[in-house]
Amino acid sequence: MDDTVKRLLAGLQDKTAKLNMNITEFIGKDSKVDDLMTGRVTLPAFLESITDTDPYKVEELATGTFMVVSKRINFSPMMRIRREALSEIWTRLDVFKKVYPELAERADRTKAEINSAKCSSCARNSKTSALLEETLYLPGKGRDFSELRPIFGDKFIDILENDTPMPRPQHPTPPPQKLPDRSLTVGAPAKASRSVPPSGGVHRPSCINCCRKHIGQAIVLLGEASLGYPAHRWLAVGHLAEAAEEILEYPETATLLRAERLNIMDNPGYVPNLMPFFDQLDALELGLKPPSVPA
Ligand SMILES: [Zn+2]
Repeated sequence: MDDTVKRLLAGLQDKTAKLNMNITEFIGKDSKVDDLMTGRVTLPAFLESITDTDPYKVEELATGTFMVVSKRINFSPMMRIRREALSEIWTRLDVFKKVYPELAERADRTKAEINSAKCSSCARNSKTSALLEETLYLPGKGRDFSELRPIFGDKFIDILENDTPMPRPQHPTPPPQKLPDRSLTVGAPAKASRSVPPSGGVHRPSCINCCRKHIGQAIVLLGEASLGYPAHRWLAVGHLAEAAEEILEYPETATLLRAERLNIMDNPGYVPNLMPFFDQLDALELGLKPPSVPA
């Protein structure tokens, strides 16, 4: 058993490790995964059984954050940063500016952009990532990382400490596509459905990315529920309720999501396939009529 798996098992034991399973692509194709899914083997036994010949691996992303994932996946350096860094950086901005004075101005600008964004939580995730990614392209030499280390995590600081900075990618990711005017293409105008917020307060604006995030979390949680954490089914239900709230501008898709949620709540044996919703959301974002979700 390799050291990573050992650390993971110890961390699961004393509840200091977080584990994400990303192995749904192997269901029905890999007997070990199937044994895990059907409960014939326990999660620790499955983790211990993983060898070099399996098509999946156990990766420790940031310290204490593990993932079981296809070997085809190569992690970018940004995936090594502690997830919490994306929010903690804004409460410890003094520390960040001290270590990276050349990014101080950009950090202030990013903060202002996040505060004025339509969906501040999505803007925070993407813009903060872009800001922190800049550290990868600057030399680490001569910087004192002692205060930044607990915020960014050891795995990421190890990369930053390198004297030769990473080369900037040749083809940077294109800027996000401007959304077309939906009123021209997508069915009924949604004003009526949004005029009365369900919770009584002012409704937050629709955000397709937040909807994707909640559906993704529901899929992970439903997978965990089937791995012996039955309560996670209810956490998934909560995420699906949030997902529908995020797209009230698109009543048809919101209604389909609600139907899936009720089915999950009412039928303990029901195994939903939520993946087609991602196709629907892609289509809505582009202003197309969404493909139907199979019942
Ligand atoms: Zn959002």
